[in-house]
Amino acid sequence: MKAHTRVVVIGGGIAGCSTLYHLTQEGWTDVVLIERNELTSGTTWHSAAQVTNFGMSQTMVGLKSHSINLYKELRDDVDYPVSYRHGDGGIRLANTEAQMDGYRHFASMARGMGVEFEVIDAAECARRHPLISTDNLLGGLWDGNDGDIDPASLCQALARRARNAGAEVYRNTPVIGLTQHKDDSWTVHTEQGDITCEIVVNACGYRVNEVGAMMGVHHPVASMEHQYFVTEDVPAIAEAGHRMPLIRCPISDYYFRQEKNGLLIGFYEQGCKTWGMDGIDPHFVNALCPDDLDRITDVLEGAFARMPALTEVGIKTVVNGPITYTIDGAPLVGPIRGKRNAFCIIGMRAGLGEGGGHGWMLAQQIVHGEACYDTYGALIRAASQGTRMSS
Ligand SMILES: Cc1cc2nc3c(=O)[nH]c(=O)nc-3n(C[C@H](O)[C@H](O)[C@H](O)COP(=O)(O)OP(=O)(O)OC[C@H]3O[C@@H](n4cnc5c(N)ncnc54)[C@H](O)[C@@H]3O)c2cc1C
Repeated sequence: MKAHTRVVVIGGGIAGCSTLYHLTQEGWTDVVLIERNELTSGTTWHSAAQVTNFGMSQTMVGLKSHSINLYKELRDDVDYPVSYRHGDGGIRLANTEAQMDGYRHFASMARGMGVEFEVIDAAECARRHPLISTDNLLGGLWDGNDGDIDPASLCQALARRARNAGAEVYRNTPVIGLTQHKDDSWTVHTEQGDITCEIVVNACGYRVNEVGAMMGVHHPVASMEHQYFVTEDVPAIAEAGHRMPLIRCPISDYYFRQEKNGLLIGFYEQGCKTWGMDGIDPHFVNALCPDDLDRITDVLEGAFARMPALTEVGIKTVVNGPITYTIDGAPLVGPIRGKRNAFCIIGMRAGLGEGGGHGWMLAQQIVHGEACYDTYGALIRAASQGTRMSS
């Protein structure tokens, strides 16, 4: 490990890898990433990894557009192609006029950022996704940019590009302490030795507050268990001969997308279950929580009603893992309040979709002092004033 660098990014999930890569893109190449285990061994490896362009503010739409454009570029890199399915599109469903009005508003707002969504009626939803029922459905918002990405190869590709530009990545190197000096520089203590730097970045996912505590900060971030499962093959999908778009249902709180010839179905659980509040086992690495399907039965009923073909197939795999949330669901990206030369990119609940863009905005803030979009909504002070953007 080198003795000194300009920036130490702690954590090698999507947040850390994206920040490292974008620092090099902004011209800072004497930067390092320190990861306690392997890259993506926190939440990122098991993410459903859907990437949408939808956002409830122009900043969110803009940074998600950046993610999408970056991921397309990485997909097309012949030296290290990343698996990114883009172009099947996605529909966000609605069953009330208020939701449809909201979609019209979001579509016109996105247009201001150069992104085209379509507001479509129920018949058009069913034409684009022939397996859904139109019962109790008014229509939806079509996002032609919806897709999903392989999270592990995405992070490896970002780290690879950063390394090629001069950055260094230290794996299997847990950070165990942080000391700030009178000139505001830092010593980062690791199990493999110390490294001094001008700036530290906390990108530690569900371990955010372990590293926060090393600098005397408690971040308002909690982890919840979040589940999806993958079904056996759905005969109607196999017979369709074309890929189905992704469906998100804010009415019944689930999403489903095609995974091979089956479906991946995720749930926005209403009976929320916190995780790791009394400390996290240090050996919880590349790990999952026990399956907990009882918690999703009510949401599952809505998914069955919308897609009757689901009732005919069994479950192949269940994935239940920790996902981090802030008070209002929007991540915290920017300077750490009350600290100098310390930044965070934390509380990511949709880190694959947003991570490309947030890493870009954070790198701009570190290098230039401000980002190209209004970042107020991602700041901690906005969280306490209730004026933050949501995704
Ligand atoms: C079931 C599920 C489905 C999901 N589906 C989607 C989806 O469809 N779309 C989407 O956009 N998002 C989705 N998410 C959310 C997304 O996966 C996360 O937002 C994202 O992976 C978080 O990335 P991260 O880099 O912030 O954290 P992590 O991936 O947890 O990375 C943090 C890293 O920090 C390292 N670290 C921690 N402590 C230290 C230390 N002391 N020293 C050094 N390194 C340390 C960890 O080892 C880890 O590698 C899903 C999440 C779950 C659980």
